[in-house]
Amino acid sequence: MITQMVRDFAEQEIRPNIMKWDEAQELPRETLRKMGELGLLGVLVPEEYGGAGFGYMEYITAISEVAKVCGSIGLSMAAHNSLCTGHTMYFGNEEQKKKYLPKLATGEWLGAWALTEPNTGSDAMRMQCTAKKDGDHWVINGTKTWITHGKSSDMVVAIVRTGELLDSHGMTAFVVERGTPGLKAGKKEDKLGMRCSETAEVIFEDCRVHESQMLGKEGDGFIQAMKILDGGRISIAALSLGIAKGAYEASLNYAKEREQFGRPIAQFQGIAFKLADMATEIEAAELLTFQAGDMKNRGVNMTKESAFAKYYASEVSVRVATDAVQIFGGYGYTKEFPVEKFYRDSKLCTIGEGTSEIQKLVISRQILS
Ligand SMILES: Cc1cc2nc3c(=O)[nH]c(=O)nc-3n(C[C@H](O)[C@H](O)[C@H](O)COP(=O)(O)OP(=O)(O)OC[C@H]3O[C@@H](n4cnc5c(N)ncnc54)[C@H](O)[C@@H]3O)c2cc1C
Repeated sequence: MITQMVRDFAEQEIRPNIMKWDEAQELPRETLRKMGELGLLGVLVPEEYGGAGFGYMEYITAISEVAKVCGSIGLSMAAHNSLCTGHTMYFGNEEQKKKYLPKLATGEWLGAWALTEPNTGSDAMRMQCTAKKDGDHWVINGTKTWITHGKSSDMVVAIVRTGELLDSHGMTAFVVERGTPGLKAGKKEDKLGMRCSETAEVIFEDCRVHESQMLGKEGDGFIQAMKILDGGRISIAALSLGIAKGAYEASLNYAKEREQFGRPIAQFQGIAFKLADMATEIEAAELLTFQAGDMKNRGVNMTKESAFAKYYASEVSVRVATDAVQIFGGYGYTKEFPVEKFYRDSKLCTIGEGTSEIQKLVISRQILS
Protein backbone atom coordinates (compact mmCIF):
# COMPACT_ATOMS: atom_id res chain seq x y z
CA MET A 1 0.00 0.00 0.00
CA ILE A 2 2.81 2.38 0.85
CA THR A 3 4.62 1.59 -2.37
CA GLN A 4 1.48 2.27 -4.39
CA MET A 5 0.59 5.44 -2.50
CA VAL A 6 4.07 6.93 -2.88
CA ARG A 7 4.35 5.79 -6.49
CA ASP A 8 1.04 7.46 -7.40
CA PHE A 9 2.02 10.66 -5.60
CA ALA A 10 5.45 10.76 -7.27
CA GLU A 11 3.97 10.17 -10.73
CA GLN A 12 1.28 12.83 -10.34
CA GLU A 13 2.98 15.51 -8.28
CA ILE A 14 6.68 15.12 -8.87
CA ARG A 15 7.42 13.62 -12.30
CA PRO A 16 5.76 16.38 -14.38
CA ASN A 17 7.89 19.06 -12.68
CA ILE A 18 11.30 17.55 -12.11
CA MET A 19 13.19 19.23 -14.93
CA LYS A 20 11.58 22.62 -14.24
CA TRP A 21 12.63 22.42 -10.57
CA ASP A 22 16.04 21.04 -11.51
CA GLU A 23 16.84 23.83 -13.98
CA ALA A 24 15.63 26.56 -11.63
CA GLN A 25 17.12 24.92 -8.50
CA GLU A 26 13.70 25.48 -7.00
CA LEU A 27 12.83 23.79 -3.71
CA PRO A 28 9.18 22.80 -4.20
CA ARG A 29 7.93 23.76 -0.75
CA GLU A 30 4.28 23.16 -1.65
CA THR A 31 5.02 19.60 -2.80
CA LEU A 32 6.90 18.95 0.43
CA ARG A 33 3.88 20.25 2.34
CA LYS A 34 1.67 17.75 0.49
CA MET A 35 4.18 15.02 1.32
CA GLY A 36 3.77 16.04 4.95
CA GLU A 37 0.01 15.58 4.68
CA LEU A 38 0.62 12.02 3.45
CA GLY A 39 2.90 11.27 6.39
CA LEU A 40 6.07 11.25 4.28
CA LEU A 41 7.82 13.89 6.40
CA GLY A 42 7.25 12.08 9.67
CA VAL A 43 7.50 8.47 8.58
CA LEU A 44 9.22 7.28 11.77
CA VAL A 45 7.52 9.73 14.14
CA PRO A 46 4.98 8.08 16.48
CA GLU A 47 1.34 8.89 15.80
CA GLU A 48 0.97 10.66 19.16
CA TYR A 49 3.35 13.34 17.82
CA GLY A 50 1.55 13.64 14.49
CA GLY A 51 3.70 11.19 12.52
CA ALA A 52 2.93 8.10 10.46
CA GLY A 53 4.36 5.81 13.16
CA PHE A 54 6.06 3.44 10.73
CA GLY A 55 9.36 1.60 10.97
CA TYR A 56 12.44 1.46 8.76
CA MET A 57 11.00 -0.99 6.20
CA GLU A 58 8.28 1.49 5.29
CA TYR A 59 10.77 4.36 5.45
CA ILE A 60 13.20 2.68 3.02
CA THR A 61 10.31 1.85 0.69
CA ALA A 62 8.96 5.40 0.72
CA ILE A 63 12.32 7.12 0.11
CA SER A 64 13.32 4.77 -2.68
CA GLU A 65 9.95 5.18 -4.43
CA VAL A 66 10.34 8.96 -4.36
CA ALA A 67 13.98 8.75 -5.50
CA LYS A 68 13.02 6.47 -8.40
CA VAL A 69 11.35 9.55 -9.82
CA CYS A 70 13.42 12.40 -8.34
CA GLY A 71 16.58 12.01 -6.27
CA SER A 72 16.43 15.63 -5.10
CA ILE A 73 13.05 15.27 -3.44
CA GLY A 74 14.28 11.95 -2.03
CA LEU A 75 17.29 13.74 -0.51
CA SER A 76 15.14 16.48 1.03
CA MET A 77 12.81 13.85 2.43
CA ALA A 78 15.72 11.82 3.87
CA ALA A 79 17.40 14.87 5.44
CA HIS A 80 14.16 16.18 6.95
CA ASN A 81 13.08 12.80 8.38
CA SER A 82 16.36 11.27 9.50
CA LEU A 83 18.39 14.29 10.54
CA CYS A 84 16.40 17.21 11.93
CA THR A 85 13.26 15.29 12.85
CA GLY A 86 15.20 12.21 13.95
CA HIS A 87 17.51 14.21 16.22
CA THR A 88 14.53 15.96 17.85
CA MET A 89 12.64 12.67 18.20
CA TYR A 90 15.50 10.63 19.69
CA PHE A 91 17.09 13.28 21.91
CA GLY A 92 14.46 15.93 22.60
CA ASN A 93 12.66 16.04 25.94
CA GLU A 94 8.88 15.63 26.12
CA GLU A 95 8.24 19.36 25.88
CA GLN A 96 10.50 19.72 22.82
CA LYS A 97 8.95 16.68 21.14
CA LYS A 98 5.43 18.02 21.70
CA LYS A 99 6.42 21.42 20.41
CA TYR A 100 8.38 20.48 17.30
CA LEU A 101 7.51 16.97 16.10
CA PRO A 102 3.88 17.62 15.03
CA LYS A 103 5.03 20.61 12.97
CA LEU A 104 7.89 18.67 11.35
CA ALA A 105 5.95 15.44 10.81
CA THR A 106 3.09 17.14 9.02
CA GLY A 107 5.29 19.27 6.81
CA GLU A 108 4.07 22.53 8.35
CA TRP A 109 7.72 23.12 9.22
CA LEU A 110 10.75 22.11 7.20
CA GLY A 111 13.82 21.03 9.15
CA ALA A 112 17.58 21.39 8.71
CA TRP A 113 20.43 19.69 10.54
CA ALA A 114 23.78 21.43 10.72
CA LEU A 115 26.97 19.54 11.45
CA THR A 116 29.32 20.28 8.54
CA GLU A 117 31.49 23.41 8.43
CA PRO A 118 33.74 24.92 5.73
CA ASN A 119 36.89 23.37 7.23
CA THR A 120 35.39 20.31 8.84
CA GLY A 121 33.45 17.82 6.72
CA SER A 122 34.55 14.23 7.27
CA ASP A 123 36.46 15.43 10.36
CA ALA A 124 33.42 16.94 12.08
CA MET A 125 35.03 16.54 15.49
CA ARG A 126 37.23 19.61 14.83
CA MET A 127 34.24 21.92 14.31
CA GLN A 128 34.86 25.57 15.05
CA CYS A 129 31.32 26.89 15.45
CA THR A 130 30.91 27.62 19.17
CA ALA A 131 28.24 28.21 21.79
CA LYS A 132 29.24 30.11 24.93
CA LYS A 133 27.09 30.17 28.04
CA ASP A 134 25.69 33.53 29.11
CA GLY A 135 23.32 33.23 32.06
CA ASP A 136 20.46 30.98 31.02
CA HIS A 137 21.26 31.49 27.32
CA TRP A 138 23.89 30.18 24.92
CA VAL A 139 25.45 32.46 22.29
CA ILE A 140 26.27 30.68 19.03
CA ASN A 141 28.87 31.95 16.55
CA GLY A 142 30.18 30.36 13.37
CA THR A 143 29.22 29.04 9.95
CA LYS A 144 27.81 25.69 8.85
CA THR A 145 28.04 24.71 5.19
CA TRP A 146 26.25 22.34 2.82
CA ILE A 147 23.12 22.39 4.92
CA THR A 148 20.06 20.86 3.30
CA HIS A 149 17.23 23.43 3.67
CA GLY A 150 19.76 25.90 5.09
CA LYS A 151 17.66 28.84 3.85
CA SER A 152 14.09 27.58 3.79
CA SER A 153 13.96 25.55 6.97
CA ASP A 154 11.81 26.70 9.87
CA MET A 155 14.22 25.25 12.43
CA VAL A 156 17.82 24.12 12.49
CA VAL A 157 19.26 21.46 14.76
CA ALA A 158 22.83 22.72 15.12
CA ILE A 159 25.69 20.76 16.64
CA VAL A 160 28.25 23.23 17.97
CA ARG A 161 31.33 23.31 20.18
CA THR A 162 30.69 23.95 23.85
CA GLY A 163 33.91 22.41 25.17
CA GLU A 164 37.48 21.63 24.19
CA LEU A 165 38.68 20.89 20.66
CA LEU A 166 38.92 17.13 19.93
CA ASP A 167 36.90 16.26 23.05
CA SER A 168 34.07 14.01 21.85
CA HIS A 169 32.06 15.39 24.79
CA GLY A 170 32.82 18.98 23.83
CA MET A 171 29.86 19.47 21.49
CA THR A 172 26.17 20.13 22.11
CA ALA A 173 23.01 20.18 19.97
CA PHE A 174 20.54 23.07 19.99
CA VAL A 175 17.26 23.76 18.22
CA VAL A 176 17.40 27.20 16.64
CA GLU A 177 14.12 28.48 15.26
CA ARG A 178 13.98 30.60 12.11
CA GLY A 179 13.55 34.21 13.12
CA THR A 180 15.92 33.92 16.08
CA PRO A 181 18.12 37.05 15.89
CA GLY A 182 21.59 36.12 14.64
CA LEU A 183 20.47 33.08 12.60
CA LYS A 184 21.10 33.85 8.93
CA ALA A 185 21.18 31.96 5.67
CA GLY A 186 24.34 32.36 3.61
CA LYS A 187 25.25 31.31 0.10
CA LYS A 188 23.00 28.83 -1.68
CA GLU A 189 25.09 26.28 -3.56
CA ASP A 190 24.78 25.89 -7.35
CA LYS A 191 25.07 22.12 -7.61
CA LEU A 192 25.81 19.42 -10.20
CA GLY A 193 22.82 17.34 -9.11
CA MET A 194 20.17 17.17 -6.42
CA ARG A 195 19.44 20.68 -7.61
CA CYS A 196 15.96 21.16 -6.22
CA SER A 197 17.07 20.01 -2.78
CA GLU A 198 18.26 23.32 -1.38
CA THR A 199 21.80 23.33 0.03
CA ALA A 200 23.01 26.50 1.75
CA GLU A 201 25.22 28.00 4.42
CA VAL A 202 23.80 28.61 7.88
CA ILE A 203 25.44 31.51 9.70
CA PHE A 204 25.26 32.20 13.41
CA GLU A 205 26.21 35.72 14.53
CA ASP A 206 25.82 36.22 18.26
CA CYS A 207 22.75 34.04 18.02
CA ARG A 208 21.24 33.71 21.51
CA VAL A 209 19.26 30.59 22.31
CA HIS A 210 17.68 29.78 25.63
CA GLU A 211 19.09 26.75 27.47
CA SER A 212 15.69 25.07 27.04
CA GLN A 213 16.60 24.76 23.32
CA MET A 214 19.37 22.27 24.10
CA LEU A 215 18.70 18.71 22.89
CA GLY A 216 19.77 16.23 25.53
CA LYS A 217 22.65 17.16 27.82
CA GLU A 218 25.56 19.55 27.38
CA GLY A 219 28.44 17.67 25.78
CA ASP A 220 26.29 14.96 24.18
CA GLY A 221 25.94 16.59 20.75
CA PHE A 222 28.66 14.72 18.87
CA ILE A 223 27.70 11.31 20.21
CA GLN A 224 24.07 12.06 19.33
CA ALA A 225 25.12 13.15 15.82
CA MET A 226 27.01 9.88 15.23
CA LYS A 227 23.91 7.91 16.26
CA ILE A 228 21.75 10.02 13.98
CA LEU A 229 24.14 9.35 11.10
CA ASP A 230 23.92 5.57 11.69
CA GLY A 231 20.19 5.82 10.93
CA GLY A 232 20.65 8.55 8.32
CA ARG A 233 22.93 6.28 6.33
CA ILE A 234 20.06 3.86 5.85
CA SER A 235 18.07 6.69 4.32
CA ILE A 236 20.92 7.56 1.92
CA ALA A 237 21.16 3.86 1.01
CA ALA A 238 17.41 3.95 0.25
CA LEU A 239 17.90 7.12 -1.77
CA SER A 240 20.72 5.47 -3.73
CA LEU A 241 18.58 2.41 -4.30
CA GLY A 242 15.72 4.51 -5.69
CA ILE A 243 17.99 6.38 -8.08
CA ALA A 244 19.54 3.09 -9.26
CA LYS A 245 16.11 1.53 -9.78
CA GLY A 246 14.87 4.56 -11.71
CA ALA A 247 17.93 4.50 -13.99
CA TYR A 248 17.71 0.72 -14.44
CA GLU A 249 14.00 0.68 -15.32
CA ALA A 250 14.45 3.48 -17.84
CA SER A 251 17.40 1.59 -19.40
CA LEU A 252 15.53 -1.71 -19.55
CA ASN A 253 12.62 -0.15 -21.41
CA TYR A 254 14.86 1.82 -23.72
CA ALA A 255 17.04 -1.21 -24.54
CA LYS A 256 13.95 -3.16 -25.59
CA GLU A 257 12.72 -0.34 -27.85
CA ARG A 258 15.84 1.18 -29.38
CA GLU A 259 16.90 -0.64 -32.53
CA GLN A 260 20.31 -0.67 -34.15
CA PHE A 261 21.65 -3.09 -36.75
CA GLY A 262 18.05 -4.25 -37.29
CA ARG A 263 17.25 -5.36 -33.75
CA PRO A 264 16.64 -4.01 -30.26
CA ILE A 265 19.91 -3.15 -28.54
CA ALA A 266 18.84 -5.39 -25.59
CA GLN A 267 19.64 -8.32 -27.88
CA PHE A 268 23.31 -7.39 -27.94
CA GLN A 269 25.11 -9.23 -25.18
CA GLY A 270 27.15 -6.12 -24.34
CA ILE A 271 23.92 -4.34 -23.38
CA ALA A 272 22.14 -7.36 -21.86
CA PHE A 273 25.12 -8.02 -19.57
CA LYS A 274 25.05 -4.39 -18.38
CA LEU A 275 21.38 -4.87 -17.48
CA ALA A 276 22.22 -8.14 -15.72
CA ASP A 277 24.93 -6.41 -13.65
CA MET A 278 22.57 -3.57 -12.79
CA ALA A 279 19.78 -5.94 -11.67
CA THR A 280 22.16 -8.04 -9.56
CA GLU A 281 23.78 -5.09 -7.84
CA ILE A 282 20.44 -3.41 -7.15
CA GLU A 283 19.15 -6.61 -5.56
CA ALA A 284 22.25 -6.88 -3.34
CA ALA A 285 22.02 -3.18 -2.37
CA GLU A 286 18.36 -3.64 -1.49
CA LEU A 287 19.09 -6.63 0.73
CA LEU A 288 21.85 -4.76 2.56
CA THR A 289 19.57 -1.75 3.04
CA PHE A 290 16.69 -3.82 4.40
CA GLN A 291 19.11 -5.73 6.64
CA ALA A 292 20.27 -2.47 8.23
CA GLY A 293 16.65 -1.27 8.50
CA ASP A 294 15.58 -4.48 10.16
CA MET A 295 18.39 -4.20 12.71
CA LYS A 296 17.49 -0.58 13.39
CA ASN A 297 13.84 -1.61 13.91
CA ARG A 298 14.98 -4.25 16.39
CA GLY A 299 17.13 -1.73 18.25
CA VAL A 300 20.38 -3.63 17.80
CA ASN A 301 23.65 -1.91 16.97
CA MET A 302 23.91 -1.55 13.19
CA THR A 303 26.82 0.87 12.75
CA LYS A 304 28.63 -1.60 10.48
CA GLU A 305 25.52 -2.72 8.61
CA SER A 306 24.28 0.80 7.91
CA ALA A 307 27.75 1.68 6.61
CA PHE A 308 27.71 -1.50 4.43
CA ALA A 309 24.35 -0.44 3.00
CA LYS A 310 25.27 3.21 2.46
CA TYR A 311 28.68 2.44 0.94
CA TYR A 312 27.50 -0.33 -1.37
CA ALA A 313 24.16 1.17 -2.45
CA SER A 314 25.68 4.59 -3.21
CA GLU A 315 28.48 3.12 -5.32
CA VAL A 316 25.91 0.93 -7.13
CA SER A 317 23.79 4.00 -7.74
CA VAL A 318 26.67 5.77 -9.49
CA ARG A 319 27.62 2.65 -11.51
CA VAL A 320 24.04 1.97 -12.59
CA ALA A 321 23.36 5.59 -13.52
CA THR A 322 26.62 5.71 -15.50
CA ASP A 323 25.74 2.53 -17.41
CA ALA A 324 22.24 3.87 -17.97
CA VAL A 325 23.65 6.89 -19.82
CA GLN A 326 25.78 4.48 -21.87
CA ILE A 327 22.75 2.38 -22.80
CA PHE A 328 20.89 5.50 -23.92
CA GLY A 329 23.91 6.56 -26.01
CA GLY A 330 23.71 10.17 -27.23
CA TYR A 331 20.13 10.47 -26.02
CA GLY A 332 21.33 9.72 -22.50
CA TYR A 333 23.52 12.80 -22.68
CA THR A 334 20.54 15.13 -23.09
CA LYS A 335 18.01 16.52 -20.66
CA GLU A 336 15.14 15.09 -22.71
CA PHE A 337 15.68 11.64 -21.21
CA PRO A 338 15.67 10.88 -17.48
CA VAL A 339 19.03 9.16 -17.13
CA GLU A 340 21.06 12.38 -17.41
CA LYS A 341 19.49 13.55 -14.13
CA PHE A 342 19.93 10.19 -12.40
CA TYR A 343 23.61 10.35 -13.40
CA ARG A 344 24.04 13.81 -11.84
CA ASP A 345 21.95 13.08 -8.75
CA SER A 346 23.58 9.72 -7.99
CA LYS A 347 27.01 11.21 -7.24
CA LEU A 348 25.81 12.94 -4.08
CA CYS A 349 25.07 9.54 -2.57
CA THR A 350 28.77 8.65 -2.32
CA ILE A 351 29.46 11.99 -0.56
CA GLY A 352 26.62 13.08 1.76
CA GLU A 353 26.34 11.73 5.33
CA GLY A 354 29.86 10.36 5.13
CA THR A 355 31.80 9.73 1.93
CA SER A 356 32.53 6.22 0.66
CA GLU A 357 36.01 6.52 2.15
CA ILE A 358 34.52 7.37 5.55
CA GLN A 359 32.13 4.40 5.29
CA LYS A 360 35.18 2.18 4.71
CA LEU A 361 36.78 3.75 7.78
CA VAL A 362 33.64 2.96 9.84
CA ILE A 363 33.47 -0.62 8.50
CA SER A 364 37.17 -1.32 8.98
CA ARG A 365 37.10 0.04 12.55
CA GLN A 366 34.16 -2.24 13.31
CA ILE A 367 35.72 -5.37 11.84
CA LEU A 368 39.15 -4.71 13.35
CA SER A 369 37.96 -3.81 16.84
C1 LIG B 1 24.08 18.14 -1.43
C2 LIG B 1 24.68 18.06 -0.07
C3 LIG B 1 23.87 18.08 1.04
C4 LIG B 1 24.42 18.04 2.33
N1 LIG B 1 23.59 18.16 3.42
C5 LIG B 1 24.15 18.28 4.65
C6 LIG B 1 23.33 18.59 5.78
O1 LIG B 1 22.10 18.70 5.67
N2 LIG B 1 23.93 18.73 6.99
C7 LIG B 1 25.28 18.62 7.16
O2 LIG B 1 25.75 18.79 8.29
N3 LIG B 1 26.08 18.34 6.10
C8 LIG B 1 25.55 18.18 4.86
N4 LIG B 1 26.36 17.91 3.78
C9 LIG B 1 27.80 17.79 3.97
C10 LIG B 1 28.34 16.40 3.76
O3 LIG B 1 27.99 15.57 4.79
C11 LIG B 1 29.87 16.55 3.54
O4 LIG B 1 30.05 17.12 2.27
C12 LIG B 1 30.59 15.24 3.64
O5 LIG B 1 30.55 14.75 4.96
C13 LIG B 1 32.04 15.35 3.19
O6 LIG B 1 32.68 16.43 3.78
P1 LIG B 1 33.51 17.45 2.85
O7 LIG B 1 32.62 17.82 1.72
O8 LIG B 1 34.03 18.54 3.69
O9 LIG B 1 34.71 16.60 2.26
P2 LIG B 1 36.12 16.31 2.98
O10 LIG B 1 35.90 15.80 4.35
O11 LIG B 1 37.00 17.49 2.80
O12 LIG B 1 36.67 15.12 2.09
C14 LIG B 1 37.33 15.33 0.82
C15 LIG B 1 37.82 13.97 0.34
O13 LIG B 1 38.79 13.43 1.27
C16 LIG B 1 38.37 12.15 1.68
N5 LIG B 1 38.77 11.91 3.08
C17 LIG B 1 38.57 12.74 4.15
N6 LIG B 1 39.03 12.17 5.27
C18 LIG B 1 39.53 10.95 4.92
C19 LIG B 1 40.12 9.87 5.63
N7 LIG B 1 40.30 9.92 6.95
N8 LIG B 1 40.49 8.77 4.93
C20 LIG B 1 40.30 8.69 3.60
N9 LIG B 1 39.73 9.70 2.86
C21 LIG B 1 39.34 10.79 3.52
C22 LIG B 1 36.85 12.14 1.52
O14 LIG B 1 36.33 10.84 1.44
C23 LIG B 1 36.70 12.93 0.23
O15 LIG B 1 36.92 12.09 -0.86
C24 LIG B 1 25.82 17.91 2.49
C25 LIG B 1 26.64 17.84 1.35
C26 LIG B 1 26.10 17.91 0.10
C27 LIG B 1 27.01 17.88 -1.10
